Amino acid sequence: MQFLAGSFDVAVIGAGHAGIEAALASARMGLQTVIFSMNLDAVGNMPCNPAIGGTAKGHLVREIDALGGEMGRAADAACIQYRLLNRGKGPAVHSLRAQADRSEYRLYMKHVLEKQPNLMLKQAEIVDITRENGAVTGVTTKTGAHYTAKAVIVATGTYLHGRIIIGDTFYDGGPDGMFAAIGLTDCLRGMGLSMMRFKTGTPPRVNRRSIDFTGLEVQEGEKDCIPFSFETAHAPENRAVCHLTYTNADTHRVIRNNLDRSPLYSGKVEGIGPRYCPSIEDKVVRFADKPRHQLFLEPMGLNTEEIYVQGFSSSMPEDVQIDMLHTIQGLEHAEVMRPAYAIEYDCIDPLELRPTLETKKVAGLYGAGQFNGSSGYEEAAAQGLVAGINAALKLKGEPPMVLDRADGYIGTLVDDLVTRGTQEPYRMMTSRSEYRLILRQDNADERLVGIGARVGLNPPERLERVQRKYEAVQQEIDRVSRVNLAPSDVLQEFLQQHNSTPLKSGCKLADLIRRPELKYDDLADFDPERPALPAVIREQVEIRIKYEGYIRRQLRDVEQFRKLESRPLPPDLDYTSIDSLRLEARQKLQQIRPLNFGQASRISGVSPADITALMIVTEMMEKEKNR
Ligand SMILES: Cc1cc2nc3c(=O)[nH]c(=O)nc-3n(C[C@H](O)[C@H](O)[C@H](O)COP(=O)(O)OP(=O)(O)OC[C@H]3O[C@@H](n4cnc5c(N)ncnc54)[C@H](O)[C@@H]3O)c2cc1C
Repeated sequence: MQFLAGSFDVAVIGAGHAGIEAALASARMGLQTVIFSMNLDAVGNMPCNPAIGGTAKGHLVREIDALGGEMGRAADAACIQYRLLNRGKGPAVHSLRAQADRSEYRLYMKHVLEKQPNLMLKQAEIVDITRENGAVTGVTTKTGAHYTAKAVIVATGTYLHGRIIIGDTFYDGGPDGMFAAIGLTDCLRGMGLSMMRFKTGTPPRVNRRSIDFTGLEVQEGEKDCIPFSFETAHAPENRAVCHLTYTNADTHRVIRNNLDRSPLYSGKVEGIGPRYCPSIEDKVVRFADKPRHQLFLEPMGLNTEEIYVQGFSSSMPEDVQIDMLHTIQGLEHAEVMRPAYAIEYDCIDPLELRPTLETKKVAGLYGAGQFNGSSGYEEAAAQGLVAGINAALKLKGEPPMVLDRADGYIGTLVDDLVTRGTQEPYRMMTSRSEYRLILRQDNADERLVGIGARVGLNPPERLERVQRKYEAVQQEIDRVSRVNLAPSDVLQEFLQQHNSTPLKSGCKLADLIRRPELKYDDLADFDPERPALPAVIREQVEIRIKYEGYIRRQLRDVEQFRKLESRPLPPDLDYTSIDSLRLEARQKLQQIRPLNFGQASRISGVSPADITALMIVTEMMEKEKNR
C-alpha cells in the first residue's frame, strides 16, 4: 500500500560515487534533497580496486574538487599510499593515484551525508519513478513509501538487474553480496528510454597471512606527492605498501585448459565488458605471446587482512580460480576470502541524455555514473556532480552548467558519452582529450573553481585565493623574464654539471628555466631576489615557462573549437526535413539534438559537408526570422 513519506526538491537513487556527489551538490546549493541506498553500509563502497585516481582519473578527482565536490577531500582522509604516475613524462599526464582504506572511505562519505544540511539519507530500494505530463513527480520504494520530487537522479551503478557470474553459477545480485535492484529497469523502459546491458569484473581477495611475500617486489608510496584536494593542507602520508608478482606459464596453462568452463568463452555472458579492464583469461587469450602478466597485491585497508589481487579479475569457476592463484609466486597457499566474479547490469544509452545529464524524453530525470555507461569511481563522481548541479540550477531557474572539452576532463567525459555514446563501459584516459596540455591535474583549480563559485558550491574566498595564486604565478613569470644573468664561471660550471649548453652571452633567468634539463628550483643560487614561494606556485612557473609555446598553440586550438561550440542550434529544429543533409546525418542529429555546431560536428555519421549544409540552412532561417 503506497503512502506519502516525504516531499523533496531532488531525489537521488543510489549512494555510490555518483549519487554522493549529486546529493551533496544539490543540498549544498540549497535544495531539499533525499538520497537512497539499498544498504547504508554500502555508501561510497569500492566494489572494485581500493584505489582512487590513476591516469586521467587523478585529473577527474582534482577537477571534482575544484568544482566543489567531495571526492578529493574523502580520498585525502582515507588514502594510505600515494604515487604520482607518469612522473618521468610531461605534466599533462602526471596523475595522482592512491590506495584507499575502503572502510575509512565508506565511513567518511556516510558521515558527510548524515551531517549535510538539506539532505536526508535513507535505506530503501526504489522500484518506480512517477511522472506526469512528461516530467518526474517522485519515487516509490519497494515498501510503498512515496517521495515527491521535482528532479530525480538515477545513479544505480552495477545494481540494476545485477547478475553475478562465477563459472556456471549465475544469480541475481549486486556487488559484494548486496541485493540486485529489480524493477526500476522496466519503469525506465516504460518511459521509452533505451537501455543497454554491460558487464564488469573484479579479482579475488585473499588473506594476507596466506601470502609469502619473500622475494616479491615491494612498491612503496612516494614522499613528495600532492593531496587530491586543493583544500587539503597536510601532505599525504604513506601508511601501507603494495607488492608486485606475476602470472607465469603454469597460470596460463590452467586458464587455457579451462576456457571451456569460462562463462566468457562459453558465451553465457550477455553484457559487454570494459576493453581497458580485461579479465585475466581475456589477457591470456588476447595477448597469448606474453609470458607473464603483472599483478599488484593491494591492501584493502589498515584494519583488515584482505588483499586485492589487482590485474586478476575473472569469472572462472571458483575451483579453477584457486588453481590459477596457487601457480603464482607468493600465492602458492593463498586463502581466498572473496572469489573473483563478473557482474552484468542494466544501464541507459547515454545518447538519451543532454550535456546537463538530463534525459531528453523525461523532464527532471537525470542519469549519473555507471548507470550512464561509464566505469570507474572517478568517472561516476564527476557525472554525479554535473547531474546534481544541473538539477539544482534548473529548479532554481538559473542557466545550466555545461562544461566543454576545453574546460576539463569532466567536459570531455560527458561530451563523449552524450554525443558519441558508448558500446562498452567507458573509462577516462588522457588520450581522449584534444587539450591534454592545458587540462593538467595541477591547474584544475584555475580552470574550475570559478565555475564552482558561479553555481554556489565554492565560497567567494576560495575563488579569491585561487585568483591570488595565479596572479602570483604570473608575477613570478614576469619577474624571471626580467632577471638578467651574466655568463659567470660559477654559472657556466653549474650548466656543465647539468649537461646544459654553456652561455655565449648574458640571458634572462626565464631562458634557463625554459631548458628541459634545468629546473626553477635548481637556479635559486643565481637569483638572489627570489621571493619565497610555495611549491604549487613554483610548479606553475616551471610548467608555463617550459611549455609556453605548446600551451599558446593549444589555446589557439581552443579558440577555434569554441567558435563552433558557441554557435547554438535551434533546440526544436526538424533535421528530418533538411534535404541537403545526408540521411544518416538527419537521423543522428534528430536523435542527439546537439546544443551547438561544435557538438553536431562530433556526432559520428555527421560529416563536415553536413555541418556546412546545416550552417546554410540555419543562416537562411535566421534571415527569414529577421525579415
Ligand atoms: C564487480 C565490479 C568490478 C568493477 N571493476 C571496475 C574496474 O575494473 N574498473 C573501474 O574503473 N571500475 C570498476 N567497477 C566499477 C566501479 O565500481 C563503479 O564504476 C563505481 O562504483 C560506479 O559508481 P556509481 O556511483 O555509478 O555506482 P555504485 O558505486 O555501484 O553505487 C550504486 C548505488 O546505487 C544504489 N542503488 C542501486 N539501485 C538502487 C535502487 N533501485 N534503489 C535504491 N538504491 C539503489 C546502491 O545501493 C549503491 O548505493 C567495478 C564494479 C564492480 C561491481
